[in-house]
Amino acid sequence: MRIPFVAANWKMFKTVQEAFLYAKEFAPVVKDITDVEIVLAPPFTALHTVAEALRNTNVGVAGQNMHFEREGAFTGETSAGMLVEAGAGYVIIGHSERRTLFGETDATVAKKIAAALSADLVPIACIGETLAERERGDTLAVLDRQIHDGLAPAVDPADVSKLVVAYEPVWAIGTGRTATAEQAQEAHAHIRRRLRDQYGEEAAATCRVIYGGSVKPANTRELVTQPDVDGALVGGASLDLNAFAEIVARSRRDTV
Ligand code: PEP
Repeated sequence: MRIPFVAANWKMFKTVQEAFLYAKEFAPVVKDITDVEIVLAPPFTALHTVAEALRNTNVGVAGQNMHFEREGAFTGETSAGMLVEAGAGYVIIGHSERRTLFGETDATVAKKIAAALSADLVPIACIGETLAERERGDTLAVLDRQIHDGLAPAVDPADVSKLVVAYEPVWAIGTGRTATAEQAQEAHAHIRRRLRDQYGEEAAATCRVIYGGSVKPANTRELVTQPDVDGALVGGASLDLNAFAEIVARSRRDTV
């Protein structure tokens, strides 16, 4: 049975002080939820502070991006090792905002995933189609390409269980428009099929595939109860502590 995985992507929101207060207040609220893997992804400036605030709790910390090189003349970039040193155990890779606004490609995603794994960071690898691609009927083909070019070259069979794949339809991110439970399940089942083709039944069954795109407390349950949906990547709603805590609680397997 896969443990549900729920992560908060704060994007470029929250000062260090705001992030610290959130982390301090959030940890006690979710301390008894040990059957969901819970992660906060603050901006880089707050990462170390949040990691310290969450030390010895059941809440992990993620970077929102990283560079694939270990070090070098890459102004403005952060390596996997630097994230680890700052206290991260996870890193979001290939978010659609990185792809559309910062030119990230499947090729760079593959290099980042490989570098994250070798630094012992759990990659939260984002894939998903744009509205135009969905309307053209290309959703599954886009997922195939992103898996084939972005994930498969970087992930060995032994590492599949460490990988978290986030299916995030671009048209649902920050728009208030959520995929229906059926649309999410169709995409997730397809992703799992492709993982099975690539890595075999047993390995594919261990990989968490989570949904992202306007997840709120009110729509969490219908999404996470789909057989191939193993949790959520939450942007806007995660900025509110109570809303995010509610999403975590509703992502438990046994909640009714
Ligand atoms: C995201 O940024 O990954 C995301 C899913 O955002 P939102 O929940 O705001 O749609």
